[in-house]
Amino acid sequence: MRLDGIEGRVALVTGGGRGIGQSIAETLRDQGARAAAGDLVAPVHDGVLGVELDVTSPDSVEAAFARVEEELGPVELLVLNAGIYVVEPFEQTSLESWRRTIDVNLTGAFLCAKRALPAMRQAGFGRIVAIGSSAGKTGGKKHAAAYGASKAGIMVLAKSIASEYAEHGITANALAPALIDTDMAAGIRDLVHLIPVGRLGRPEEVAAIVAYLCSTPAAYITGEVIDVNGGFLVD
Ligand code: NDP
Repeated sequence: MRLDGIEGRVALVTGGGRGIGQSIAETLRDQGARAAAGDLVAPVHDGVLGVELDVTSPDSVEAAFARVEEELGPVELLVLNAGIYVVEPFEQTSLESWRRTIDVNLTGAFLCAKRALPAMRQAGFGRIVAIGSSAGKTGGKKHAAAYGASKAGIMVLAKSIASEYAEHGITANALAPALIDTDMAAGIRDLVHLIPVGRLGRPEEVAAIVAYLCSTPAAYITGEVIDVNGGFLVD
């Protein structure tokens, strides 16, 4: 089903090389967007512009956005998806490890949104979707304090952008997925018995909500956090 308002739009998905990010980039492509995927190694997906992007590096963010602008145009749909998940007991979490998780999951989103917003504001249109996590609401079932804190941060970042930019035709929302079947979920498959629907989620089920939030019918949704978790967390 084609959604209104995505065709021809320029989309950039961070962490778009595999997993949920790949699925989002391919879904937006299938919806008619001019889609780009940014990752540490430039992704190779059919019909998607692959760009090298380390979200923690301001220079890399600048170069990736410049490349997308040159090839496709200014980014109109930005999906802040790049993330790492480190499970470690709190007292064994080094400062370096804490900083790395916050850098990739939260500061990376800040840098990319900051780079994208001026052009969105000038155009009077933009869609930002941040991939948070149910761990950003609950702290998570495993020991991953930095991850939970970073995901709480990115979900509130989306809300702050939503409030500040609503008058410019820009919406910003977040998803709070849990237990989606990707490489990242390898260490959490033992939690499947806690999912009421009885299975892990699929990357396409996250991507479908992202696409909807980028579409015209979602223009009145902003500052929202949408759970995608099979009933794992009902709040
Ligand atoms: P994956 O580990 O499969 O994919 C993460 C992607 O992010 C990889 O392509 C990775 O690149 C990329 N990445 C890591 N660091 C950087 C960086 N510095 N700059 C750019 N890209 C980077 O995970 P998922 O697809 O499962 O996760 C996608 C998002 O969804 C993450 O933000 C995650 O926290 C979130 N999420 C996932 C859940 C799940 O159950 N799977 C649940 C809740 C949230 P590389 O391949 O080079 O490592």
